[in-house]
Amino acid sequence: MSFASLNLSPAVLRGVEAAGYAEPTPIQLRAIPVILGGGDLIGSAQTGTGKTAAFALPILTRLGAHVRGGRPRVLVLEPTRELAAQVETAFRDFARFSDLRAVAVFGGVGYGNQRAALREGVDIIVATPGRLMDYLKDGTLTLRDISVLVLDEVDRMLDMGFLPVVKDIIGRCPKNRQTLFFSATVPPEIQAVASFALRDPARVEVGANRSVNRTITHAIYPVAHDQKFDLLLALLAKVDFDSVLVFSRTKHGADKIARRLKVANHQVAVLHANRSQNQRLEALAGFRSGKYEIMVATDIAARGIDVAGVTHVINFDIPANPEDYVHRIGRTGRAQAVGDAFTLVTPENAGDVRAIERFIGQKIPELKLEGFEYRPLVARPAATVPQRAQGSPAGTLRPQRGFRRFGRGR
Ligand code: AMP
Repeated sequence: MSFASLNLSPAVLRGVEAAGYAEPTPIQLRAIPVILGGGDLIGSAQTGTGKTAAFALPILTRLGAHVRGGRPRVLVLEPTRELAAQVETAFRDFARFSDLRAVAVFGGVGYGNQRAALREGVDIIVATPGRLMDYLKDGTLTLRDISVLVLDEVDRMLDMGFLPVVKDIIGRCPKNRQTLFFSATVPPEIQAVASFALRDPARVEVGANRSVNRTITHAIYPVAHDQKFDLLLALLAKVDFDSVLVFSRTKHGADKIARRLKVANHQVAVLHANRSQNQRLEALAGFRSGKYEIMVATDIAARGIDVAGVTHVINFDIPANPEDYVHRIGRTGRAQAVGDAFTLVTPENAGDVRAIERFIGQKIPELKLEGFEYRPLVARPAATVPQRAQGSPAGTLRPQRGFRRFGRGR
């Protein structure tokens, strides 16, 4: 099945061709006809499946090639600034052979440029909820003409506490509209939002929500807490990488890892929510262009970020919830590229590993880096440990027990 047989407009087909897509991905094949037909839709698909084009292409086709009136007709809500910027870029790319205009609206930057862009007239707004609300309240924008509303990454949007403002925004859109809903998971609270926002939605589910992309090889590397950074350096020295995403659980941790990697002569960018918008944009642009070979990031900042050619993902810290594991390692192996994902695990992470394995329904292979001098891990009852190991929470070093629990005969 080709894009040409999907009834997309000629201008959109040219945009797809220019983007270099040869054939539609499964979610595109299934969602595009529904959206072109005007129906509401709940799509559950992991990131990296081509979900952005799955909604952008039929929406652009429905808008037609020409600007009408200059008031926004499509609103896409995204949980983070980076996703808003990325999805707006995708719309612009696909719409390059039409006159349609897309504008991104997000916080962390001045109001001036965005306001000026909105006043010039716009067809598609891709926004984070908070900043959009500012423009709705001050009268810069109205949603009276919205004919398509897209709620993307809904699970994350609700995790971030956006539910009240999202509800308010939905209430400001005309009742007679098309609503598209994308979420990696659809638990009951999300189902509840869906049932008041959507009318008789079609459901498009691609693969298991929990599955790890088949093009990704992933492994866990058990290590003592105080050797994590050394193992990270050793892995970087050993693997043949072009660009690596390193995940930290905390912003402070991300800064610290980045500082130490710089000392080891790596070109490093950092992405987390405490950085200014300009720093975040510079980090992403530099990582995309290859100026930085490594980007250290936290989960919120990196959710859904699409950087072509990420060759490796290294979880310096195992993610706090299993879903984030799938999202994190989904940054590599996107589309058809093959990627590697490594997770450093300390003995105290044994429970997290089990939770992830249950969630994804598979065992994660456990590996040792050859040539790395692993310090022997000695189990000592917490009460007799006179001093805690450097950087490790007191009483959490129970290496032997922990490792034996992941031991699967290697
Ligand atoms: P998404 O899931 O929308 O974040 O897309 C993941 C990646 O796949 C992005 O780099 C897209 O540009 C790419 N992509 C989306 N659809 C296709 C397609 N049909 N063929 C090749 N690459 C695609």
